[in-house]
Amino acid sequence: MSGEKTSLLILYTGGTIGMMQDPQTGSLVPFDFDNLYDHLPVLRNLDYQLDFYAFDNLIDSSNMTPDFWITLAKKIESNYEKYDGFIVLHGSDTMAYTASALSFMLENLNKPVVFTGSQLPMGMVRSDGRENIIAAIEIAAAKDEDTAMVPEVTIFFENQLLRGNRTTKHNAEHFNAFVSGNYPSLANVGVHIKYNKEYIMKPNFKKLKLHTKLDNNVAILKIFPGITKELVQHTLNTPNLKAVIIETYGSGNAPTAPWFIEALKEAIDKGIIVYNVTQCKSGSVVMGRYETSRDLNRIGVLSGHDITTESAIAKLMYLLGEGFTPEKTKELLQTPIRGEMTL
Ligand code: ASP
Repeated sequence: MSGEKTSLLILYTGGTIGMMQDPQTGSLVPFDFDNLYDHLPVLRNLDYQLDFYAFDNLIDSSNMTPDFWITLAKKIESNYEKYDGFIVLHGSDTMAYTASALSFMLENLNKPVVFTGSQLPMGMVRSDGRENIIAAIEIAAAKDEDTAMVPEVTIFFENQLLRGNRTTKHNAEHFNAFVSGNYPSLANVGVHIKYNKEYIMKPNFKKLKLHTKLDNNVAILKIFPGITKELVQHTLNTPNLKAVIIETYGSGNAPTAPWFIEALKEAIDKGIIVYNVTQCKSGSVVMGRYETSRDLNRIGVLSGHDITTESAIAKLMYLLGEGFTPEKTKELLQTPIRGEMTL
């Protein structure tokens, strides 16, 4: 859209950022986004065309569902040609899951989709929401020559722009709420916005392809000392289960107890995918490095390498929804398809 004013669509899904104190009751209630300029008059100084859209059912992101991901992805797709970029205002609790899901659902994304939110409601004096929205807008509008500077799904919080499918919420209090333990930040925001171009995806100029079939017959089994056979078996015997993430220790290690390995093997023999993702916030699964992961390798557990749990669950839902053959699904789970893992 060169020559024209940069146009951005701000999508409000709910969460703390859009809250203000009700003068009558004192509790936090969502404010009317049509009046965003009243809350954030500085937006009038930006020379962009800013449009707003608030979903009907504004939610605390703890109530996020795959159906909402589909609604959100469709909204972006149906407005894709009209806008240069998108800002998604979203609660921080499940932001990493939604950003991961959208990265898989929006194949060939060549425009920015920047997620942001805040730890303090916008209606509060010290809110981090104002800076977050303004920086997210600038990032979504940024160009490198004639194309978008950051044509991917990202999360912006406090002073860092992170790849969406690499992030985890790690702090419930600090303004710097997100971490990307296995991938560098895409931009650092201080006096200037410094883009780390070598880490940002390059546009491929292909047509956007929306994927909206998500299969949530998946589970996460976090390993801990003392985990019982009953718990493992119940999880693996969940009706219709197609895939389970085992959140393992360190570089992908788990108990070597025969009952544990047997339970996983039985599941794999039934066709259930078992995907090994580390509990660590940084570093990678390397199956076979220790004796405690050799058996996992032997029975056909798949390595999630350095993927986050949030990204792994979203990727599983996407791949299972697409209905690839089991072989193809297994291959794609161990291959980076949206920059979500490093081999
Ligand atoms: N519970 C809120 C949510 O995730 C917290 C936030 O907005 O950051 O929707």
